[in-house]
Amino acid sequence: MGTLRITDAAENNLDHIDLELPLGQWVAVTGPSGSGKTSLVFDTIVAESQRRYLATLSARARHYLGKVGRARVGSVEGLPVCVAIGQRAIAGHARSTVGTLTGTVDLLRLLFARAAVDPGGEALSRSHFSFNTPLGACSNCQGLGVADRVEPSLLIADPSLSIRDGALVPTLANGYTVYSQVTLDVMEEICVAHGFSVHTPWSQMTEVQRDVILYGTKKLKVAFGKHSIESRMRWEGITARPREEGYYRGLVPVIAQTLQRSRNPGVLRFVRSSACDACGGTRLARPGREARLGDSTLPSLLAVAVEDLEAPLLALPKGPVWEALRPSVLSRITRMRRLGLGHLALDRLSTSLSGGEAQRIRLVAQLVAGLSGMLFALDEPTLGLHPESQPAMAEVLDELVDAGNTLLVVEHDPDMVRYAQHVVAVGPGAGPHGGKIVFDGPTAPDPLGGPPGVCATRKHATAEIVLRGATLHNLEHAELRVRLGALNVVWVRRGRARARWSLARCFPR
Ligand SMILES: [Zn+2]
Repeated sequence: MGTLRITDAAENNLDHIDLELPLGQWVAVTGPSGSGKTSLVFDTIVAESQRRYLATLSARARHYLGKVGRARVGSVEGLPVCVAIGQRAIAGHARSTVGTLTGTVDLLRLLFARAAVDPGGEALSRSHFSFNTPLGACSNCQGLGVADRVEPSLLIADPSLSIRDGALVPTLANGYTVYSQVTLDVMEEICVAHGFSVHTPWSQMTEVQRDVILYGTKKLKVAFGKHSIESRMRWEGITARPREEGYYRGLVPVIAQTLQRSRNPGVLRFVRSSACDACGGTRLARPGREARLGDSTLPSLLAVAVEDLEAPLLALPKGPVWEALRPSVLSRITRMRRLGLGHLALDRLSTSLSGGEAQRIRLVAQLVAGLSGMLFALDEPTLGLHPESQPAMAEVLDELVDAGNTLLVVEHDPDMVRYAQHVVAVGPGAGPHGGKIVFDGPTAPDPLGGPPGVCATRKHATAEIVLRGATLHNLEHAELRVRLGALNVVWVRRGRARARWSLARCFPR
């Protein structure tokens, strides 16, 4: 399939590296933390691919996508289109879920639109099952599935303090309470009118007095209104002038009104979210929520953990639509389970996934997309994965290679490195002590014949342990030299020898 040639790569700490990598293979890029693995894979190869892609877009599109600087590299030849599947949390929004990312929900929506029965007798379309469409979304929560409620207890920072000294969370150093829309002097007027002071500890205020602060009062008209951030910071006491006469509205109503405009982090600190009353958190309007296929509704299927989903799926009534869609649905479910994602339900929000989970979800999405001729760059895909799931991860990555793609996998875990076909080790140290290629070659065809020469780069190592005539299991009078004070790497042949072989087994306790 040709080669990817990189000349004079000098991004970050890379030491003017020249490198030739086989395309159509699984290439592991390993080395100590900070050695330059990420600089090589993501900051050079992926960045160059993205830059070239952006260069093909219109100036208008480029403006929106932002500028990608040229990587510090002499040349990159033979570069396929890259897909970077990193550890970043998915920059999703409240409408992106495990099910939408893997395409599983689309298939189930299609199935329900064609085959489900609406108890209300309505003719169903795919839009009825999508909370991203006006037709499908619950009108109460606009398809978000949650109802927000300002929770007054979340506003209290320390009940032993007074309002002036910071009893409430949104208190500035000068005593101004954000969202109160009154200066500290005006706040004092309000307090005095109700028989207390801004200097009264919150815990010594009566229930009625606290309610005045939280929910407002119509006992007196005050100088009330929104203030700019600058003026809030400036106030030291009596300086602010009234903007308008009005009633103090209280913190909770003002925060609730702000929340309606935007669910920004500032106000979400004081909000408890619970399932929307109207749709029970399913986000769907009545037809999409209640339409049944056998015993299942779409929301009921989406709420089940993927590892428990096979039974209800196989219990769906047979029919031509389901027969056609079933293999695609089950292959997605199976791959998610194999990658240790079985604990997730399809309605799980993508923004709540860990970096490792998000990366594996993206892998499933790429696999089912069936792309070929691409270069996939991955960042420690086994991070957070149970060691038992590593062989399954290796099979999934093999599938991508078998489909005609190239894999560049940044990897620390030697157990995973040994599954690769080609290894590049960046090192020898971190930062300015790294940035060199200390090994570049195929994984050895035989674990004991011709190991790659990593040891040779560590000249200071002298003493060694020599193992002769080892016959445990399938070893045939093997000889092994382990250098002390050096990085020793044991490679395993690919294919049949997926079985683990390690030094530990040569020295049974
Ligand atoms: Zn709702």
